[in-house]
Amino acid sequence: MKNATDAEIIPFPAKAQIIPRSEHNISRDNISKEALKVLYRLKQAGYKALLVGGGVRDLLLDVEPKDFDIATDARPEQVRELFRNCRLIGRRFRLAHVHFGREIIEVATFRANHETDGDRLIEDGMILRDNVYGDIDDDVWRRDFTVNALYYNIADFSIIDYVGGVADVKAGRIRFIGDPEERFREDPVRMLRAIRFAAKLGFTIEPATEAPIPQLAHLLEDIPPARLFEEVNKLFLGGSALQTFEKLRYYGLFKQLFPEVELSLAQEEAGFPHMFLIKALQNTDARISEGKPINPAFLYSVMLWDPMQEQTQQFQKNGAPLFEAQRLAADNVISKQIAKVAIPRRFTHVIREIWELQNRLENRQGKRPYALLQNKRFRAAYDFLLLRADVCMAPKELADWWTEFQTADKQRQQEMQVALPADKSKRRRHRKRKKTPQA
Ligand code: ATP
Ligand code: MG
Repeated sequence: MKNATDAEIIPFPAKAQIIPRSEHNISRDNISKEALKVLYRLKQAGYKALLVGGGVRDLLLDVEPKDFDIATDARPEQVRELFRNCRLIGRRFRLAHVHFGREIIEVATFRANHETDGDRLIEDGMILRDNVYGDIDDDVWRRDFTVNALYYNIADFSIIDYVGGVADVKAGRIRFIGDPEERFREDPVRMLRAIRFAAKLGFTIEPATEAPIPQLAHLLEDIPPARLFEEVNKLFLGGSALQTFEKLRYYGLFKQLFPEVELSLAQEEAGFPHMFLIKALQNTDARISEGKPINPAFLYSVMLWDPMQEQTQQFQKNGAPLFEAQRLAADNVISKQIAKVAIPRRFTHVIREIWELQNRLENRQGKRPYALLQNKRFRAAYDFLLLRADVCMAPKELADWWTEFQTADKQRQQEMQVALPADKSKRRRHRKRKKTPQA
């Protein structure tokens, strides 16, 4: 990481550059019809309406945008009047969401920096509420990075660039608008956003923007865990989870999000937990690029597995039987994690199920494996076992057995059960039972 003072200072243009339709690659055809509908209805009602943010940035890069964000001079209430399918959301940052089935178009009213009017609340440099409205030339300075502050104007199909964002898109550069330290203090989540965009787009974070991150990483402590849950999902489910993970660790942000995981990784940098996580993140990225669904619970179950295992051993050392130790460890690890990142109960439930099934996958005698195949978490638990086997944290024989068993016909399944190595756990239990009456 370079020192901030080494940073090349790139001045902002004196006035907005208008890049005409003929000089950029964005075409109306690449914008979703829902976004166009919203843009045109706003325009017809006499408001300004521009595409902004990730949509413009990604289209310039020939990447399919995740969503389309719209900026307008219409107030949220005025936007709501125009669309039946519209909901106003957010207290901190009031927005209109226009719903078209599953697609949501986010419409934000231009923000301004004037300190006097409107509803803005700042505490210790952190913006807690920002609902002061203005015009486009106010709004642009409230945005985070130059590449996110480009406007596409449907009135003449030009791009409006106040901050040299087009040049930064071309150079592959994440650069803050304004003083980076101040802007990170206003909203520490911007540190995570910088990492997310750098990883997703393969951009570099310019030196002045990256320099304050390690010292300010601790500010994430002040962010509500529910907001961090949203951000963590975006970080790890955007198709560049591995890159994101490496960068988060490099900048000291990962330990703010997953302190227990960082601790176990730090103890065993080159060891199994690290490889396990890397494999899981690679798998996640591969699945996303193939368009397959991802359950966030799976990722969390991988992340927290090693801390959970360590604590299980601790509880066992203190005399708890295995199952009890695992339950206590799971309770412990999950409750510490949700204090940082508010994983909803519907996911923590699945995390526990995946963990519990790891034991049950070892019992392959009798009717048990058939029942397991019917379990609704079998698939996730089996995927988890494959990962463990891949990094020698579970027997390969066990993973291979399940791979074959689930698709084998009845006869082959029976043969597979007969051919199983003797069940050690059964023998142990048997011996114990014999001992008890003698004691
Ligand atoms: P994505 O591809 O994830 O949608 P995006 O850049 O569109 O990326 P959004 O979270 O959809 O990001 O936000 C839309 C735009 O709103 C951003 O491009 C940026 O201009 C502005 N914005 C969002 N969050 C912040 C923030 N925390 N601080 C400043 N500006 C923000
Ligand atoms: Mg967006």
